[in-house]
Amino acid sequence: MGLLSFKKGIHPPTNKDLTASSPVEEMPLPSQVVLPLGQHIGAPAEPLVAVGDEVATGEKIAEAKGMVSVPLHASISGKVAAIEPRPHVCGSMAPAIVIEGDGADRLAPGLSANRRLEELAAEEIKALMKEAGLVGMGGAAFPTHVKYNPPAGKVDYVLLNGAECEPYLTCDHRLMVEKADDVILGLQAFMKAAGAPRGVIGVEANKPDAIAALRQAAAGLPVTILPLKVKYPQGEEKMLIYAATRRVVPAGGLPAEVGVIVNNVATAAAFGYYLRKGIPLVSRIITVTGKGVRNPKNLLVRIGTLLEEVIAYCGGFTEAPGRIILGGPMTGPAVYRLDLPVMKGTSGVLVQTRAEVEKPRVLPCIRCGKCGAACPYNLLPNYLSDYAEHAKLPEAEKYGIMDCRECGACSYVCPSRRPLLQNIKNAKQKIMAARKKG
Ligand code: SF4
Ligand code: SF4
Repeated sequence: MGLLSFKKGIHPPTNKDLTASSPVEEMPLPSQVVLPLGQHIGAPAEPLVAVGDEVATGEKIAEAKGMVSVPLHASISGKVAAIEPRPHVCGSMAPAIVIEGDGADRLAPGLSANRRLEELAAEEIKALMKEAGLVGMGGAAFPTHVKYNPPAGKVDYVLLNGAECEPYLTCDHRLMVEKADDVILGLQAFMKAAGAPRGVIGVEANKPDAIAALRQAAAGLPVTILPLKVKYPQGEEKMLIYAATRRVVPAGGLPAEVGVIVNNVATAAAFGYYLRKGIPLVSRIITVTGKGVRNPKNLLVRIGTLLEEVIAYCGGFTEAPGRIILGGPMTGPAVYRLDLPVMKGTSGVLVQTRAEVEKPRVLPCIRCGKCGAACPYNLLPNYLSDYAEHAKLPEAEKYGIMDCRECGACSYVCPSRRPLLQNIKNAKQKIMAARKKG
């Protein structure tokens, strides 16, 4: 039998060789961190500190507000220098807590290390997920504890996403190789919280060292490490569920409806680390890569470190950059300034050269059907894009535009270089805005 996968999809060059075998390097403490209160999907956290307060690493500095929210913790020790709007990856200014570091990295008192899973009830584990400030670290930044309160039904599997199908990124790959024990501890905790008898980790087959490390760490546990076909978007939630379980999440539905909860491997490792060390989510591994950066690396950085410090630590740019992307090239947003912080959901920084991003001429659609053949959601991207361009939003909705997961496969294969994803995204935003207005 061949490797498990899903139907359709594409095969872009992986471009992972720049960093795939580079061990994770810990970046020195930044002199300052900028911590946006809204680093997750849901309501921004509310500050618990004031300007001038001394804070310690791991100290809670903002409290979750409402059901879909998580607290925020100081990622370095020092003094609160400001609570004010700062540039955010969303493109506008957003409230943030700025900490000037004291270089001491003093840990907050009272952090509870070595929590034993046997002594924790499911509800306690869910509460700890929230206390750890845990969000989806694959980019979605959805509060993790919320996934563990599914409306109804039994959870059969907790499925970890170790596919890392986005070109260039290798942060999850190195995490699985170097932090396999934390991944497995976090997964066991998730399984207990969900009452799930089985854990599965899906990993693309081009990471044999990660598969071996996870298998060793999971020996004797009800956990399967599943090699998957190398194909984009293999790590997309519904594609991963289909590949691993052959279950199909209905359009507009949630994984819990088919008895599955999905988390990223980095989220599991962050929780495993929290259980062992008592330190909440204050750092993460990112991949800094691309032809435009002098020394590509996998870096362990404190949340809130500014991109300019990260780039400088990697030797700076090789030339004036053509494009800077937060995350991978298929789904990551382009950013236009370097005073943005690394956030909980930031998986990488990709710097492309001008030659790489020279804009090809957009040509008319030739009705070749390649975009539809690539779409894993069986949508008709050319029609959706046409409807979007001509403001025919009811038609776009009728043909399932809201089911688009913005994977970018359609734009990638289009021989006419049509901005399909961009048009679809614009239309989705307009539809969402109209729905909000009521
Ligand atoms: S229509 Fe959406 S889901 Fe389908 S290929 Fe394009 S971006 Fe991906
Ligand atoms: S791939 Fe491009 S040219 Fe071909 S049908 Fe789709 S939009 Fe048209």
